[in-house]
Amino acid sequence: MYYDKLIFEISTPGRKGYSLPDTGIPAAPIDASLQRTAPAELPEVSELETLRHYTNVSFKNFGIEKGFYPLGSCTMKYNPKINQDIANREAFQIHPLQPASTVQGMLEIYYETQRILSELSGLDTFTLNSYAGAHGELVGLMIMKKYHEDRGDLKRTKVIVPDSAHGTNPASATVAGFESVEVKSNKDGTVHIEDLKQVLGDDIAGIMLTNPNTVGMFEKDILAIAELVHEAGGLLYYDGANLNPLLGVARPGDMGFDIMHINLHKTFSTPHGGGGPGSGPVGVKAFLADYLPRPVVKKENDQYTIDYDAPDAIGQISHFFGNIGVVVKAYTYLLTVGKEHFSEVGKFSVLNANYIKESLKDLYELPIDDICKHEFVFNGLKDKSAHVTTLDVAKRLLDYDVHPPTIYFPLVFKEALMIEPPETESKQTIDQFIAIMRKVAEEAKTDPDLVKGAPYTTVVRRLDEAQAARNPIVKYRDLT
Ligand SMILES: *Cc1c(COP(=O)(O)O)cnc(C)c1O
Repeated sequence: MYYDKLIFEISTPGRKGYSLPDTGIPAAPIDASLQRTAPAELPEVSELETLRHYTNVSFKNFGIEKGFYPLGSCTMKYNPKINQDIANREAFQIHPLQPASTVQGMLEIYYETQRILSELSGLDTFTLNSYAGAHGELVGLMIMKKYHEDRGDLKRTKVIVPDSAHGTNPASATVAGFESVEVKSNKDGTVHIEDLKQVLGDDIAGIMLTNPNTVGMFEKDILAIAELVHEAGGLLYYDGANLNPLLGVARPGDMGFDIMHINLHKTFSTPHGGGGPGSGPVGVKAFLADYLPRPVVKKENDQYTIDYDAPDAIGQISHFFGNIGVVVKAYTYLLTVGKEHFSEVGKFSVLNANYIKESLKDLYELPIDDICKHEFVFNGLKDKSAHVTTLDVAKRLLDYDVHPPTIYFPLVFKEALMIEPPETESKQTIDQFIAIMRKVAEEAKTDPDLVKGAPYTTVVRRLDEAQAARNPIVKYRDLT
């Protein structure tokens, strides 16, 4: 089809998509050594062709603006356009090397955002300099390392990570120079305390946890866990990538966590997926505050200052202040929702998840049948006689214009189907999703081949995933 073509394939020599007015400024000569020897290989297309091309490309994609997107452990929520609009304002197009006195407004936004995140999380101080969740984890672990080193406690080379943790946790521990030690989960997905006791010792730098954990269960023994880890001389790191369920309800700082990161691009109003831009602020308890990376924004006598010296800082982990536009969006969102209403974010995300879980558990296998927080995990269809897998269900959902939930993660269940409906979805949307999930379960019983052959309505049908992973074609030229 014409619209399936790459923009290079519809290119026609000599065609232009622009017409620039004559400025009357004479062309300045460019030194021959700097000139191209051949024209740049760019598509030559009209404005209308360009517009159609990108519009059609966008239709092939699935985004939160197209339909329901219940991606577990990834909080795909609707982010109001006003936040984007504010961040795009000209007032924020400033240079990071401008003197502090000329960017007081931006520094105030930075400072106030840290302060609000502190209040929501119970950690005393934040840096907003890190670019992503995984980057925040690395920064947090570097702080953990420096804390132990500064006390001359050099034996602590290991970080505990539960088996249900997000893959970035053990990866960050390795990058930060730690060895990660896995602890097994209980049947309900929570940390096995006896297992934990076994690994605690004077070689443990700390533990990385997320609570509610990756299967959506609240770690009820968190206070006991915190006490055990602290007694052993370790610190507690909280992976706060998805903070929805806790907002306005509970705070990691009150649970005993010393360090945490938050993903602004999951919980605080920046769309995510596709690689950014993101922001992964890191919060710490007061005793670790001096380790936060440079530059630090400070407030003295109603004036905001930028401290590039911060002698105890772990160093500088970003150019300047990280993705400041993402911070502006988060700040707009924080002020729009307001202190009084944050608990509704937490409560509605939890209510939505439990409503779906209860409405489908007669047809889908629910390994942990308990009240969940913002997400939960099915272990595939309950009736496995037709051998319809989680992958088949996920593919069939595409035919119903629903983005599939997270599949085959966490690794603790074989047929994991992890559902997270954020607080921004209406009951009608959720009911429609439940009806579709029930229909797919019915199809799996009456016509399993239909489900196994899905999807039928998408731009490409079922891909050969092994081939795509081993032999990815990522260059246009490879196609010819
Ligand atoms: C998304 C996520 C991360 C990583 O965040 P990135 O910004 O993608 O680096 C870490 N932990 C959990 C639980 C997550 O969901």
